[in-house]
Amino acid sequence: MESTLQPAADDRLGPRGSLTRPWDEFDAYLFDVDGTLLNCKDAVHYFAFCEALKALAGRELNLDGVTAHGNTDIGILRDALNLAGVAEADWRPRVPEACMSMAAYVEANRDEIITEALPATREVLQHLRAKKAVLGVATGNLESIGKIKLDACGLLQNFDFFAFSDGLETRADVYKRALERACDLAGPDAAICAVGDTPADVRAAQHHGIEVIAVATGIHPREELSREQPDLCLSSLSELLP
Ligand SMILES: [Mg+2]
Repeated sequence: MESTLQPAADDRLGPRGSLTRPWDEFDAYLFDVDGTLLNCKDAVHYFAFCEALKALAGRELNLDGVTAHGNTDIGILRDALNLAGVAEADWRPRVPEACMSMAAYVEANRDEIITEALPATREVLQHLRAKKAVLGVATGNLESIGKIKLDACGLLQNFDFFAFSDGLETRADVYKRALERACDLAGPDAAICAVGDTPADVRAAQHHGIEVIAVATGIHPREELSREQPDLCLSSLSELLP
């Protein structure tokens, strides 16, 4: 049985798990965007997918039945097209142009993007910056789209490096890109911690052997994230601060 019987009881607990060092003493951090740093209250990114899918499939498609959270933008297109039975040979070669059209759609509609920083996001980033940590983004968003969201939320300037999903299809590959950049800045032996809101974030971090903080501010309840055995599992980032 799932956790539906006692979700409230779980939410009353404090942080669960333990990192190998205090949460704020890693050399570098990889932050997911959606559901971790911010939430988007608009549907601009969603409609960009619908437009791209229409161009790739030659008919109207949407994201019903597709796992978007924790996926990558290209992975979301792939899953929607596979679900609709569109032959891979018909869409795969045109993925680069679909990504460009998605970016153009979001850019054209950027004034409609409404973001909300999640609780304690700014404070946590400021705290880590004061500790001289290297701060990075690791997200399934395409670069132009992720940057517009972060900029709309006033968070873009907080980061030293970015790993977006352009040309990549899996979360593990996004983390690989992020880790390379983190090690360039923080050194090859840097202690690195990921922060994300989905089981996919936890698994990608575990795949690369880095520690991970799961935060239940996206669509996944803490009980569900906890089952992935992140090193620390929080209801929100505010649990990190006194
Ligand atoms: Mg997320």
